[in-house]
Amino acid sequence: MARLMSMLDVHGRPLRDLRISITDRCNFRCTYCMPREHFSSNHSYIPRDDILTYEEIITVVSSLLPLGLAKVRITGGEPLLRRDVTTLISMLRALDENLDIAMTTNGVLLPRYAEAMKESGLSRVTVSLDAVEEDKFASITDSRNTPEDVFAGIHAAQEAGLPVKVNCVVKKGVNEDQIIPLTNACIERNIAVRFIEFMDVGTTNQWNIDAVMSGKEMRTELTDFFGPLKRVKPQHPSDVARMWEMENGATVGFIESVTNPFCGDCSRARLSAHGSLYTCLFSSHGFDLRGMLRFEADIDDIAYAIQDIWIHRNDKYSEERASSKKHRQRVEMSFIGG
Ligand code: SAM
Ligand code: SF4
Ligand code: SF4
Repeated sequence: MARLMSMLDVHGRPLRDLRISITDRCNFRCTYCMPREHFSSNHSYIPRDDILTYEEIITVVSSLLPLGLAKVRITGGEPLLRRDVTTLISMLRALDENLDIAMTTNGVLLPRYAEAMKESGLSRVTVSLDAVEEDKFASITDSRNTPEDVFAGIHAAQEAGLPVKVNCVVKKGVNEDQIIPLTNACIERNIAVRFIEFMDVGTTNQWNIDAVMSGKEMRTELTDFFGPLKRVKPQHPSDVARMWEMENGATVGFIESVTNPFCGDCSRARLSAHGSLYTCLFSSHGFDLRGMLRFEADIDDIAYAIQDIWIHRNDKYSEERASSKKHRQRVEMSFIGG
């Protein structure tokens, strides 16, 4: 079968970025993502046999490289809970020495894995951290870990030579008072920090527009403390974070999916741990690739299937959120991959 060269969706957007969820399990129970009342021991996680193997993930990534894929992000659930994650990183690196291989993690297991992941070819890590105050961190993550555990993970990643970014989801009435101390903690450690608006992903986190602190409101807090912020030109149109520079030279990013959506340049697809492809974070349904993979589909078969899915992609959920009256069945973030 002849290999396809490139593809654009209905709005002219390429597929450059694949987020790969390698597990739907997590050692945290963040209230905005996996609230314990819904993700208790009774919750049905994906059965082990239904989870894509690393070989199957590699077939999917191999099929996308000739179509323009430039970046993969390993995520979950908590990706560091999956056994032998360094094996997957080495397999991905063996496919393409220039592929950008990132990981999003809650960070507490980084001291154990950072060095081996760097040696296996990981390009960088994003660490999620929503509070520097111990009690607040405990109530948001509903875990026994502390912010110090996360900072130890960040330190281990930096020592291993991995570039680190910190992501912080800000919820009104919950952690807006952490914006300044977290920014200071990141400046001290020379880490870029990005603040994320609380999103209406899934159906269990009781999302409510009143709980969304807008990027603009966050910038007002920062300006009051640090002085004026200056907008920095984006490096790439599909960058999700809009960057601003402080007078002290430090930069801070904002992911404003609710108040300032960026669907127009969205070049991301998501592969769930059980092998479905989702063309939007807010998709109701994925496209089952696992069935094909287990029916002996090869790289070209998967490439053709994904091209057929992508050229029909019409998603612009965040831009249509306010005007759409349609009620959508939405998939949980821990399932689809953040
Ligand atoms: N467990 C890893 C972690 O927390 O970094 C990776 C998976 S987590 C689902 C990926 C990212 O999604 C995290 O930065 C998390 O804060 C973010 N996230 C989860 N639910 C969210 C929501 N409702 N709104 C905004 N961001 C959310
Ligand atoms: Fe786990 Fe990440 Fe979700 Fe928190 S945000 S519950 S760490 S998957
Ligand atoms: Fe992309 Fe969907 Fe998010 Fe828009 S809402 S930026 S299309 S993932």
